[in-house]
Amino acid sequence: MKYHLITLGCPKNKVDSDGIEMLLRSANYRPTERQQDADVLIVNTCGFLEAAKEESIGVLQELGRRKRKHQILVAAGCLVQRNGAEVVKRVPKVDGLLGTRRWMEVLELLAQIRGGKERRRHERYMMLGDAELAGMSYLDANHAPALLGDPAADFMVAMPRPPVTAGSAYLKISDGCNAPCAFCTIPSFKGKLRSRPLEAIVDEASALVAAGARELVIVAQDTTDYGRDRGEPNSLPRLLTTICNRTDDRLRWVRLMYAYPGHVSDELIEVMASQPKIVPYLDMPLQHGDPRTLRRMRRPSRLEMVYDHIEKLRAAMPEIALRTTFIVGYPGETEEEFQGLLDFVRAIEFDKVGAFTFSPEPGTPSAELPDPVDDEVKQERYARLMETQQPISLRKNQAQVGRMLEVLVEGEGKIEGSNDPLLLARSYRDAPEIDGLVLVPGVRGVASGEMIEVNINGAMEYDLVGEPLIAEVFSSKRSTPIALS
Ligand code: SF4
Repeated sequence: MKYHLITLGCPKNKVDSDGIEMLLRSANYRPTERQQDADVLIVNTCGFLEAAKEESIGVLQELGRRKRKHQILVAAGCLVQRNGAEVVKRVPKVDGLLGTRRWMEVLELLAQIRGGKERRRHERYMMLGDAELAGMSYLDANHAPALLGDPAADFMVAMPRPPVTAGSAYLKISDGCNAPCAFCTIPSFKGKLRSRPLEAIVDEASALVAAGARELVIVAQDTTDYGRDRGEPNSLPRLLTTICNRTDDRLRWVRLMYAYPGHVSDELIEVMASQPKIVPYLDMPLQHGDPRTLRRMRRPSRLEMVYDHIEKLRAAMPEIALRTTFIVGYPGETEEEFQGLLDFVRAIEFDKVGAFTFSPEPGTPSAELPDPVDDEVKQERYARLMETQQPISLRKNQAQVGRMLEVLVEGEGKIEGSNDPLLLARSYRDAPEIDGLVLVPGVRGVASGEMIEVNINGAMEYDLVGEPLIAEVFSSKRSTPIALS
């Protein structure tokens, strides 16, 4: 039996997909890249933003269009949890639905679908484990916690060990979120914060290291709120310390994503600075840099607190790479507020900035706000924000020239317009999938997941260029130069 699994959305979804894959493999399913060869087609959907929803529906419809009679099509993940009814309506070929905290029931679901082939379609949906989900009548925020049910508890304790890709693995420490951000739908379908037990996370970390992980990327909706639901707020420093102490030296990097301003404690900064395995890198999505917009977003709006965090982080770890994310074009965002954001960006000088234009999500307080910003203005502000950040990112990257950095090899590429090899790698300054790369021209034959040391000799806005310090990794000489700005 073969499966074809497509994962959309964020790293948290990727972790769930890894779990689904492990379960399928344990039942002797094998992966296939080709849809036509698969017995089971699964799409782990994203439902965070309207555009992501449409992409998920589009992928499902495309699979449904080409689906053969014996094949089973399953929609899983956030969009299903958020609006299973719409998935069923728009993708009539779908055979099964799996909510976000029920992916561990994938094998039961497949068995039920097979057993119910002769039944009428709506009955088949009703068998899929979540009557409310399948009943196509839900979802509102109040309903979600009851819907999620107890199976989540099992997942929290014993998550199947996910595979390790290119020496890196995501480690999910909690699910759901307690924050009240006015634009975000996540708490409405993920529910409140639920932290996994510390021992379960540490066991999984050890297993991932044994399976080849040199890097663990800590993810959750809000990593810094870990433990609050267990009556132990600010447990993240203890968790990180335990992971570092209980894993062997094959683990080189522990990377922290999705920190919430206000939850970044002095203790956390101290642990980050003192544990050699924790990389000096922090992703702290701030969403905006003007207090008025932040208040309407229902986000922490005291910028002094953010400046204070950044000052302490930089004092404790002068090499730290700071990443953040902003939303532009939020309802009511005046030119003056937007200028406030640009001033903030110039003042802090983040190493890396991601940005989105605001899109109203049905059911969120933001969707009801007056004074929407025109699409054209949103796009123009997005471009101005990125133009403001680019020279800062370039300067930060140029400051790396001359440094020796350890990099994790992700794969090989080619220099454009030539056949010269190019090693693709990441330094501690780059998170997988969202940040830049360290390009090492003229080198081949280093396996993905290996770590080598490189001397940085070039910098672009997003990527760095380096040459390896170890002579034997050279197997050809670069003949085509890379264009550097
Ligand atoms: S902290 Fe993140 S996940 Fe939680 S409500 Fe805010 S935006 Fe959503």
